[in-house]
Amino acid sequence: MIDAHVHLRDMDLSYKEDFTTGTAAAAAGGFTTVLDMPNTLPPTDSSSRLIEKIERAQSKILTNVGFHVAAVPDSAQISQMSRLGAYSLKLYMPNPISPLDIQDDNTILTLLQSSKESDLRVTVHGEDQGLLRQPYNKETESFVELAKARSEQAELHALSRVLGLAAKTGCSVHLSHITLPSSILAARKYRHATTEVTPHHVLLSEKAIKRKGWKAWMVPPLRSESIRKNLLLLLSKGLVTIVASDHAPHTIEEKSGAVAESPPGVPGLETTLPLMLTLVTRRVLSMSLLIRLLSSNPARVFNLPGKGRLEEGFDADIVLVDLKRKTRIRPESFLSKAKYSPFENVHVQGQVHTTLVGGTVVFQDGEIVGKPGSGRIVKRGVRG
Ligand SMILES: [Zn+2]
Repeated sequence: MIDAHVHLRDMDLSYKEDFTTGTAAAAAGGFTTVLDMPNTLPPTDSSSRLIEKIERAQSKILTNVGFHVAAVPDSAQISQMSRLGAYSLKLYMPNPISPLDIQDDNTILTLLQSSKESDLRVTVHGEDQGLLRQPYNKETESFVELAKARSEQAELHALSRVLGLAAKTGCSVHLSHITLPSSILAARKYRHATTEVTPHHVLLSEKAIKRKGWKAWMVPPLRSESIRKNLLLLLSKGLVTIVASDHAPHTIEEKSGAVAESPPGVPGLETTLPLMLTLVTRRVLSMSLLIRLLSSNPARVFNLPGKGRLEEGFDADIVLVDLKRKTRIRPESFLSKAKYSPFENVHVQGQVHTTLVGGTVVFQDGEIVGKPGSGRIVKRGVRG
């Protein structure tokens, strides 16, 4: 299993998660390879920062780890980061990681052009900066109010704008954590677009925000029940390219403080596979579709040779699952530092039994047996 959207944090954000706890959570959740996001402290926004991150991660990881990098205006930097094996340029439209005039079409066009020249995909967080209602009411005590400030329109507008600009350049774009069926349908009209959904957007709706508050606060936010159902329907029909967790750990103190300051994001590495397997046992998804969504498609989209298939000559990155085993999600037992979840107490069927990375057992019977440093740094297009 490959999780293409993970925030492993580390460095100045190690108090939220570090390379060892994040990859331990990955192994426990059945993921053998994870692709880390660049919005860290410091951010992954230059070739030297990428090298530093690779060196720091090397001795600490239990699974394979690769890196996305920030979208930056400098095309020389883009090509250097591409040569170092970056998996994509992350374009965070609400608030770019590296300074970028996000509302200017020419800026985006230039970025897409340089990205294409470096054979890199642009991974997009699609929420239009201008349509997010800012500033929030700093006194708000309601996560529902925070969620309303991030409208469906903001997603639709941002994604259709990026898709239109990408079509002019032929650049490949990957649309992260899509929440709306209409976004999926819009993306399917552009040949070089791939789509991603998270388990939370297909399994939970805004009702969870009301009931669980900060535990169900992430961006883009959870939507209405009818949108959720239709998104799950498109997923089950095979119209979405990949599922990713958007594992975004924070401390409980940060999350549960003042509502307007609560950082968005939930951990997902240890819940994604059990939740998806539950959909398989309930016959909502087929097992072969699950494997495409969590393994072969991410391997193809992000160019991970030797991965995504169980076949002679491929890497022995393997997860064994017990499809009969029924459990409930217990955040207190997560290996991630973020011991909370909007799926707390949800009953699931299908549990990770053993995780092998490169032929070595790293997780078995509920325990990590691998050593930090046993995982490998993976680079786009390079056989590990
Ligand atoms: Zn994310």
